[in-house]
Amino acid sequence: MSREEWHRFSGKVWREIDRVEPPKRSAAERVADFHEIYSLLDETTVREQAARCIQCPQPACQEGCPLSNHIPEWLALAAEGRFLEAATISQSTSNLPEICPRVCPQERLCEGSCILLGHAEPVCIGAIEKFINEFALANGGVTLTCAPSNGRRAAVVGSGPGGLACADELAKIGYAVTVFEAQSQGGGLLLNGIPAFKLEKSVVQRRLRILEQRGVEFRLGIKVGVDIDLKELLVRFDAVFLGVGAQLARPLDIPGAELAGVHQALPFLVQKNSPMAFDLPDIPVVGKRVAVLGGGDTAMDCLRTAIRSGAAEAICLYRRDLANMPGSRKEYFNAMEESAQFLFLTNPVALESDGQGRVAGVRCVRMELGEPDASGRRKPRAVPGSEFYIAADLVLIAYGFDPVPFPSGSGLASVAVNDWGAIKVDKNQMTNVPGVFAGGDASRGASLVVHAVRDGRKAADGIHRYLDSIESGSGAAK
Ligand code: SF4
Repeated sequence: MSREEWHRFSGKVWREIDRVEPPKRSAAERVADFHEIYSLLDETTVREQAARCIQCPQPACQEGCPLSNHIPEWLALAAEGRFLEAATISQSTSNLPEICPRVCPQERLCEGSCILLGHAEPVCIGAIEKFINEFALANGGVTLTCAPSNGRRAAVVGSGPGGLACADELAKIGYAVTVFEAQSQGGGLLLNGIPAFKLEKSVVQRRLRILEQRGVEFRLGIKVGVDIDLKELLVRFDAVFLGVGAQLARPLDIPGAELAGVHQALPFLVQKNSPMAFDLPDIPVVGKRVAVLGGGDTAMDCLRTAIRSGAAEAICLYRRDLANMPGSRKEYFNAMEESAQFLFLTNPVALESDGQGRVAGVRCVRMELGEPDASGRRKPRAVPGSEFYIAADLVLIAYGFDPVPFPSGSGLASVAVNDWGAIKVDKNQMTNVPGVFAGGDASRGASLVVHAVRDGRKAADGIHRYLDSIESGSGAAK
């Protein structure tokens, strides 16, 4: 179909066909288990929904996607029912093309940039991306062969999204890639941190098997910096990628933070969601009134995990308003449907004890929003005399994460970090140590899965160009 024909066709379609969301289980059904809440659109609906794209010459959706996915191209193919071809294009820019659409906040990225916004609902890009890639996975549309060996070896430290993307890109062009993972299973936070109701564990494990089939070796249960040093990796490998994440929880700095029943979000989520046995104390939830402090996606995950774990109630306390909340709107509405409560413009100032060392409630103040701060969000300030109290016998802190400091004395300690511990990288993702690259949360701070994938891809490209430049004697990658 020519572009003019397409415009005539889709110009009619988007006016006549409303956006359709993928089928979602009822809230009552889904809170009884931890399985994914969305299923796939059917083929007919995918074709109709993809045809709502008007194929604009400068696709804003592509600019809104951190991976610059060729969205209009695969939407046009999907509209014609050419799902395998659509998936091939999708896979060319994403190493986790069935995972990103499950966890991306599309309303802030691709769909939030869709040109239809303002006239109609945006194209359901995420649901179509998920469909075409699940179709490819089910119908032999994923290539498992790689280029012949190029004789180079790369080590990837950490098997979260950044590490997987880097390993996959390098394996595809002929590198022998070894991934070192500290835990007993690969996947990093994709497996341990993100709850299965958003991303089924089997989906992550399936992707790990694809990487293995592409020749990536996983060395599990090995902690770089403890069991093996960076210096040794640099002897055994031509380049190293550090995708070690950021799991150092920001502390709660108010009176009562030390009380029993007060926990950081990550150990809670790992304990309730991971398929692995971690040496973590059990956190009882049944019948508890749970207060979650924070307003990001981790806070939503805590609320919804607490509800599925038997909490009597789960309430989010967040100091800004909904418009300034960093968490995904989709996950906010899902949490609301599942009976989570939200108290906006609310800041905890102290945790109260029950007199026996256990938390019994949260003392809060009302907030109001002032001028925008450096991040562009309006700065909250306390309203004088507005203190109030909320009963809670389990408090979960979801204030975000910073990178964990490297063990002193290890080779890793020679990698330069910034003031808050994030690894410093250049435009090619290379650190101050030649041949050592980094990306994802370890270098940018806690962020989205799709950003880590972008970093991993960029680092793979940086590694390849760096080694080419060494081999040709022209110096470091430009
Ligand atoms: Fe949208 Fe994320 Fe897919 Fe990009 S990777 S097209 S932002 S869902």
